[in-house]
Amino acid sequence: LAGRLGASLGLPVYVVGGFVRDLLLQRPNQDIDLVAEGDGLRLARALAKELGGRVREHRKFLTSMVIFTDTQGREQRLDVATARLEYYEHPAALPTVELSSIKMDLFRRDFSINALAVRLDGSFGQLVDFFGGQRDIKDKVIRVLHTLSFVEDPTRCLRAVRFEQRYGFHIGQGTEKLIKNALSLKLMDRLSPQRLYGEFRHLCEEDAPLACFTRMDQLGIWEAIAPQLGLTPTRKALLQRLQEISGWYRLLYFEEEPLPWLVYFLGLNHGLNYALTAEHYRRLGLPEALRAVVLSQREHLRSLGSQLARRQAEGAAPSALCALLRPLRLEFLLYLMAQTSDAPLQKNISRYITQWRRETADITGDDLRRLGLAPGPACGRILAAVLRAKLDGQAPTAESQLALAAS
Ligand code: ATP
Repeated sequence: LAGRLGASLGLPVYVVGGFVRDLLLQRPNQDIDLVAEGDGLRLARALAKELGGRVREHRKFLTSMVIFTDTQGREQRLDVATARLEYYEHPAALPTVELSSIKMDLFRRDFSINALAVRLDGSFGQLVDFFGGQRDIKDKVIRVLHTLSFVEDPTRCLRAVRFEQRYGFHIGQGTEKLIKNALSLKLMDRLSPQRLYGEFRHLCEEDAPLACFTRMDQLGIWEAIAPQLGLTPTRKALLQRLQEISGWYRLLYFEEEPLPWLVYFLGLNHGLNYALTAEHYRRLGLPEALRAVVLSQREHLRSLGSQLARRQAEGAAPSALCALLRPLRLEFLLYLMAQTSDAPLQKNISRYITQWRRETADITGDDLRRLGLAPGPACGRILAAVLRAKLDGQAPTAESQLALAAS
């Protein structure tokens, strides 16, 4: 459709970037980025009209997003950018060159494997590969397009690791040298926390973040971001457990999903004091709205750990363990489970995550009203007591709970 519309508007249109890379790697990718040579906004409006959707425009950058509902009722988004013919004035080192607009657009990208395009109008399906992306995919290499790439944007150091680990590729020798050079020039210090957060979040959303974290450690990227974030053997073992537990939780298909960045942030800061953790939270640009909650829950967890172990050893009832665990966010529960070596306690934390925290009494306020109780705080206390009895197996059925409430 984009090709047909492009042809009728006289605009060469390409699908670019990750979609093309994953097409060649035969991997699924739903993120379609289009580039039109000329006026991408016109193409976006035409697409929105055909698809019955709407356009969100960023006129300043000549980019837009087409938002529409697909045949299965799901909302879909298409990014449409504009490539224009212009002189490319590179800071230092590189000469001023005139590139065709799509070549220019691709040259701005991070790695050769991400600088591929497929033409959609006219010669539909023609692969556009100016920088050896196809060869690098075949050779499984992550390679930048020019020597100043990491100077231009140091987040690419993290992106290189992410793609390398995701695809089982390797960062090319020259590119690795450029990363180390960028680190020794302290270019990471120039990165804003917001940019770091974007990349950190992507890393945590990978299937195996630990492989990325380990490679970052080996390249010295953690140290460049914050010296204390390096991976000690203890932290590495804990992150491994966190990765396994996150996988376990994902397979339970609960609606509530943990924030991956928070789960791994806790693991990466394991054993560090409050001040350092707070500093790392700031440096990684993590969401301000959660800052106070995260830091206070983390402190709370320190004292809770020993309390839980003691209560477990004393054979505490489920309701007593629930009372201790209730204040914790899901990410902290996963973190707690990962660091607990006491097998019965670990089992109870997993029971709390999967069952106990979801339990409610089988009777409601309406049942209490029918028993003649006026609505008020007492009802809440009775229902809480009924739930405790249910968790501890003393009132498993609605009848027994009603009897308990009546008493
Ligand atoms: P993913 O599968 O993780 O989404 P992606 O390649 O689609 O990978 P995006 O971050 O969505 O990643 O970026 C889309 C495209 O934009 C990339 O393929 C790349 O061409 C370009 N790009 C993204 N970030 C940068 C960057 N920091 N520097 C240069 N080009 C970039």
